[in-house]
Amino acid sequence: MQPQHPTLSPDLARDEEALRLVAAIFETSGEAIVVTGPDNRILAVNPAFSRVTGFSAAEVIGADPKLLGSGRNDPSVFAGMWDSLRRSGSWSGEVRNRRKNGEEYVEWLSITSICDADGKVLRRVAIFTDITRHKAAEEKIWQQTNFDHLTGLPNRRLFQDRLQQEMRRAQREGSKVAVLFIDIDRFREINEAHGHDAGDVLLIEIGQRIAGCMREADTLARFSGDKFMALVPDVREPGAAERVAQSILAALAEAFMVGRELAYVAGSIGIALYPDDATDADELLKHVDQALNAAKAGGSGGFQWFTSYMQEAAQLRRQLVRDLRGALAAGQFEVHYQPIADVASGRIVKAEALLRWRHPEQGLISPAVFIPLAEEIGVIVEIGDWVFRTVARQVRQWCGASRRLQVSVNKSPKQFVIGNSHEVWVDYLREIDLPPECLVIEITEGLLLDARPEVADKLAQFRTAGIQIAIDDFGTGYSALSYLQKFDVDYLKIDKSFIQRIGDSTSDRALADAMVAMAHKLGLQVIAEGVETEIQRDHLATFGCDYIQGWYYGKPMPAAEFGRLLDNRP
Ligand code: C2E
Ligand code: MG
Ligand code: MG
Repeated sequence: MQPQHPTLSPDLARDEEALRLVAAIFETSGEAIVVTGPDNRILAVNPAFSRVTGFSAAEVIGADPKLLGSGRNDPSVFAGMWDSLRRSGSWSGEVRNRRKNGEEYVEWLSITSICDADGKVLRRVAIFTDITRHKAAEEKIWQQTNFDHLTGLPNRRLFQDRLQQEMRRAQREGSKVAVLFIDIDRFREINEAHGHDAGDVLLIEIGQRIAGCMREADTLARFSGDKFMALVPDVREPGAAERVAQSILAALAEAFMVGRELAYVAGSIGIALYPDDATDADELLKHVDQALNAAKAGGSGGFQWFTSYMQEAAQLRRQLVRDLRGALAAGQFEVHYQPIADVASGRIVKAEALLRWRHPEQGLISPAVFIPLAEEIGVIVEIGDWVFRTVARQVRQWCGASRRLQVSVNKSPKQFVIGNSHEVWVDYLREIDLPPECLVIEITEGLLLDARPEVADKLAQFRTAGIQIAIDDFGTGYSALSYLQKFDVDYLKIDKSFIQRIGDSTSDRALADAMVAMAHKLGLQVIAEGVETEIQRDHLATFGCDYIQGWYYGKPMPAAEFGRLLDNRP
């Protein structure tokens, strides 16, 4: 096909009115216009040209437009331009040129050729606009959308683009891509201790140290707060990804200077591999997150590969969270009772109410698994109310004029924050006519450390109403005896992890002995949990421990069975 050369219509050219119009446009146009002859020398420029380039008409007429060149364009730009001009007579594109004062600018340039009847070029008209500001704004927006403003590292968005790219390449070439999810342990503490400005400086340095462990082709991104994600393409064998993880961990373990002080952080790293561990990017990122959680659970300063076991655990967890919402209405909960004996007489005088979930597919699920989930999604409040009422009604049946029994109910910290159980529960006891002394509420030490005034208030209200309070799992958390003084607490339950070691560890024996003595000094009675053997029982008896709970006296059992036990051991 013959190229189309635009030509001036002979009618128009003859028309004087039209010529004046063209001249006016040329003079007043906001766009710069350059007209060149067949030898590519400049014949005319308009005022807008002078405004953009700084050259007057007199300075450029007769010159080659090359005089505007910056020398900073890719040579292929001009090759493409001339090729297009020869073939079609026109071209448009972006060109980087230089003003008379040496300043560079970017223009959007359109060139049209005017030819004679034989197709020979008579004139070329080049029209351009200065798009430097527009380009700079565009560049800035690109920076902001793709890079982290603090560390200057790529952000999550750019990381995801590159991950997609690398995954496609891995698919073509049959190679593997590793992602390493890095979490900085203890960063929050340093941030809080030294202030956010110091924290920011530390984050920048952490980013630099991690980047220093990576190759040119790798990408390190800041994902959020103190989380970084590394993309390591072309991994030949898993050991290569592990070596990167190890060198990052080693770099992070070195001391940092924060102001004039030395500070130590540590990292935990999760690793996942494409295509081994996932079929798409979303899945890969989900799995590397699970691997990171496992690494953190294993203690700081380590790394952990994703395993399909984690995926199953995460899947089960999602299923349980879903099912937990309907479990109460479906009647899947039951309360079991574990006997608590008086050390001196060996008689069952108390019990602990322990919740059980009978899942239709998974069978009996431990409260250690589902209580944290129920706390997380908030249904613990509803479930806790149900447990309390069920236990209260049950104890009402067991206790009479001839028998006194005290049953303890576990209460999560969440239940002290949401709802008004402290009022509703007390009213309920009155309604069913159960003396409040028949119930104890078990709380964990962590609750005492909660500074919120409503927590202390609610605890105090239970006690005023006559319900006693026990501190559960003592010895596993802060074990701050000083806190016990601040609150009115009646019982201290020593955690089973302690009790189970007193048979063979003299130091644990000494500690348990001291805990009992201290508790008594503070006016608290002591219940030992998880007592399984006679040896443990005997040690506790010599320490002066008041009550014993554990398999030695009985496992948690359904209400009916516990009722029979009470009848047989009056
Ligand atoms: P916990 O309150 O410390 O309960 C004692 C746990 O130790 C129970 O586990 C009990 O079965 C177990 N245990 C008792 N004696 C022995 C023993 O001799 N050896 C061993 N190895 N274990 C013994 P369980 O029933 O699995 O409950 C786990 C935790 O779930 C409880 O720990 C409690 O924190 C929580 N929980 C249970 N029911 C409820 C509830 O209704 N509400 C709330 N918020 N939490 C509950
Ligand atoms: Mg308990
Ligand atoms: Mg306990």
